[in-house]
Amino acid sequence: MSENLRVVENATCTFCGCVCDDMILTVDDTEKRIVKAKNACVLGRAWFAEHTIEENAPAAMISGKPASIADAVAEAARILVEARFPITYGLSDTTCEAQRQAVAITDMIRGNIDTTTSVCHGPSGLAFQGIGESTMTLGEVKNRADLVVYWGGNPAEAHPRHFGRYAVTPKGMFTPNGKKDRTVVLVDVRRTSSTPAANIFVQLKPGKDFELLWALRARVKGREIKANIEEITGVSPAVIEDLVQRMKSCRYGVLFFGMGLTMTRGRHFNSGALLALATDLNEFTHFVAKPVRGHGNVTGADNVVSWQTGYPFGVNFSRGYPRFNPGEFTTVDTLSRGDADAAMIIASDPASNFPKAAIAHLRRIPVISLDTKVTSTSTLARVAFRTSTYGINTGGTVYRMDDVPITLRKAFDSPFPDDETILRALKEKVQELLRLRMPRGAKSAFELPLSA
Ligand code: SF4
Repeated sequence: MSENLRVVENATCTFCGCVCDDMILTVDDTEKRIVKAKNACVLGRAWFAEHTIEENAPAAMISGKPASIADAVAEAARILVEARFPITYGLSDTTCEAQRQAVAITDMIRGNIDTTTSVCHGPSGLAFQGIGESTMTLGEVKNRADLVVYWGGNPAEAHPRHFGRYAVTPKGMFTPNGKKDRTVVLVDVRRTSSTPAANIFVQLKPGKDFELLWALRARVKGREIKANIEEITGVSPAVIEDLVQRMKSCRYGVLFFGMGLTMTRGRHFNSGALLALATDLNEFTHFVAKPVRGHGNVTGADNVVSWQTGYPFGVNFSRGYPRFNPGEFTTVDTLSRGDADAAMIIASDPASNFPKAAIAHLRRIPVISLDTKVTSTSTLARVAFRTSTYGINTGGTVYRMDDVPITLRKAFDSPFPDDETILRALKEKVQELLRLRMPRGAKSAFELPLSA
């Protein structure tokens, strides 16, 4: 090995919610890049290969011009403190330590905080609160599950190591023969590259997830189902019966569900029906359900926002205490309605994927962005910070999709600060400005004098 090359073992890939922590990275310290990522899937290899350092890029910009970090922090703090309806959004591709600072800032400025969960598994977040979650870790699935059902997802393309590392082929304590000890069922509206991994493929009509889940629930409880169920769902009574028998008689069953379930007709009713099915099945055997999450630390965002506010996303502090109301306090809505008058976007690019009306409003208001690269959002931002990449240049904590926290190990240093460092500095500046605004004798900058 060349003397410029160094190996970092047990590193973590933060590209998707699998958060594989068995990476063996070969780092070229001269070029400041990762030249090999052993154990990574095709997506992970691209993630590591793409993260090179643009040494000459400015660490901060104000109105498109390079600025010092101190000036950019001061300008960002001024924008946030002067806004009447500031929003914070993103957070699924940064560390829990940074997410925690973002919640604190939003609380101080009585703003609105939301994460990318609101545009992926937001309906599941609602269903968890309504139905509850029969949960597990992926380690348990590997060691125990003999029936694995994927509903509305395509892990072979979106989470390539989910099959091999956790749920289909690995050999576990009670599944010593790997795939031979498991039955894998895939429920989807069409065949995908995940279908060949399944023993049973159930093709249902688009938008009929709720109806099929309810029919399964009815049969699990021994109730009759409609004679025309095949006409409604595209799935025959014989297939439903076979699935029900397998679910009731397995030793340990798991329902993994994706955005094909949560973002189609029915949304949180679909997620709720699936969670209720898992609960029903626990009368007969051990059955769990878990969403398959996309971004590397979107599960951390749910956890951090939940343990700091009591709610997972779409949280508003304008009354001085947290309120949760998806549809009102979710970012697509606060932007599309024109409520927000300033936005802090962290590790996300809504300007490239939000609805037209939301993007148009984002262009009208002052935006602060923190990102590792130039994006559509950072380009329109009044204040743009260039930050280092979590898991590559920055340590910290992320949560795997099964809510297991993983400690990151950095591969090489970046000249750019990490999100947490910027947000801590911003929090201090916001505190300072709020103290200056505080009326004499008041306990809070938002408290009006008694005479007002
Ligand atoms: S499955 Fe996801 S976390 Fe694992 S190596 Fe592939 S992209 Fe990275």
